[in-house]
Amino acid sequence: MSSFLTRLTDDARIALDTLGDRAAGLVNPSVRLGVTGLSRAGKTVFISSLVHNLLNGGRLPVFEPVRSGRVSKIRLEPQPDDAVPRFQYEDHIAALVRDRIWPDSTRAISQLRLTIDYESASGWNRLFSPGRLSIDIVDYPGEWLLDLPLLSQDYRSFSTGTVERARSGLRAELSGEWLALAAAGDPHGPADEAHVRRLAEAFTAYLRACRSDERSLSTLPPGRFLMPGDLEGSPALTFAPLPDLPPGRAPQGSLAAMMERRYEAYKTHVVKPFFREHFARIDRQIVLVDALQAINRGPEALADLEGALAEVMACFQPGTNSFLSSFLTRRIDKVLIAATKADHLHHESHDRLERITSRLVARAMERIGASGAGVEVMALASVRATREATVTHDGHPLPVIVGTPIKGERINGETFDGQRKTAIFPGDLPADPDALFSPHGPEQAARPEVSFVRFRPPHIEETGGGLKLSVPHIRLDRAMQFLFGDRLA
Ligand code: GDP
Repeated sequence: MSSFLTRLTDDARIALDTLGDRAAGLVNPSVRLGVTGLSRAGKTVFISSLVHNLLNGGRLPVFEPVRSGRVSKIRLEPQPDDAVPRFQYEDHIAALVRDRIWPDSTRAISQLRLTIDYESASGWNRLFSPGRLSIDIVDYPGEWLLDLPLLSQDYRSFSTGTVERARSGLRAELSGEWLALAAAGDPHGPADEAHVRRLAEAFTAYLRACRSDERSLSTLPPGRFLMPGDLEGSPALTFAPLPDLPPGRAPQGSLAAMMERRYEAYKTHVVKPFFREHFARIDRQIVLVDALQAINRGPEALADLEGALAEVMACFQPGTNSFLSSFLTRRIDKVLIAATKADHLHHESHDRLERITSRLVARAMERIGASGAGVEVMALASVRATREATVTHDGHPLPVIVGTPIKGERINGETFDGQRKTAIFPGDLPADPDALFSPHGPEQAARPEVSFVRFRPPHIEETGGGLKLSVPHIRLDRAMQFLFGDRLA
């Protein structure tokens, strides 16, 4: 009874908090923009470039408020949430622009406030609106969203599901060591802390191997095992699923009982607070997707990414989850699914990348009943690290991209030194996305040989006064227009 009461009052407090946010928003209008995506999808680079382009007068022809000259001032301001780390914008930009290296990726939640002074487009609004909007950008690992389904699973079903997946497909090649260790112990035997830790470590190593560059499988929950934030090493993260659990309740003091308790603690102390304190307050959301990486790895990686995105999308449709619906008082009204790193392709392929990405989320949207209103898909590059050119090959013009491969990258047996530029033909994406998703059949032959090399960030020109120009991008302005252009109307 008492836990029910605490839950009730907790939820009531959250509802009041969000109403409070709303009321504060009337005085100082603000929009909370969530930026997420699985690890290495490009969150840090996206936020850094977006802010840099806004602060430094970047080329943003599709972002209407800037194009029409209605924006008078843009600045960074202290964020309202004292307990959340600040997004280290200055460090990231120094790396990108000054050192031409990619900044450190997202490891945990962080936040940045950008405030825009503007003149409203309508005479009526000009009378009543202060013409100021704060955008609170909240960066968080997409892995954390994958934990939502755990809330409706007990330890037994979590174990069964996770072990089943670990035994099939590509994952079976990576899970051997962990599963062997797990099979050697008796779930109903006495719990031993050192053994539990070894199991948790072996399980984490398996999850990590799935995510490695060569495999590129998407993360499976628990999301914090790879993205622990500040919880690294805590007991709530020291557990693992167990194969072949005997039927019936686990005896007190047994291995299975200890695992189960920690699994429940993970849900209570890690998963729920994130959704209540952070996720619940987001107004608009961008989900970055590294579709190119998955395309490069083939149908299993793509199917896997499709599954992970379905879990992510389900979070944005609170009706599908009773825990979320229990406290969400407002909903995210716009979601942008953005395929990143489009600068790895010639622009002729950008529409195809967009179509493939739409195909990746189509089933998920259908399943959660998202109407499509408020959800958009696009291909973009937060930072354009390449230029386009045409070379003549066997008498035919061939569209290529030119950039500086990062040190150590190899193309056709040649290793790059991080200084020299090179032109590469990135390959064509198929016009019909289905060709990529089918592991068998005649389409297999048509699977593209798309080659991806990692490039260094571009050299950015200096203007007269030692000022750097803004970071070049592809369609970042379109993303801005969709995400908050209407709030500056
Ligand atoms: P995060 O884990 O989501 O924060 O990912 P990052 O923003 O750190 O991006 C991961 C890596 O992807 C970077 O280190 C870059 O190598 C690459 N990357 C991200 N965005 C772009 C982009 O717009 N263009 C190119 N060429 N590479 C990008």
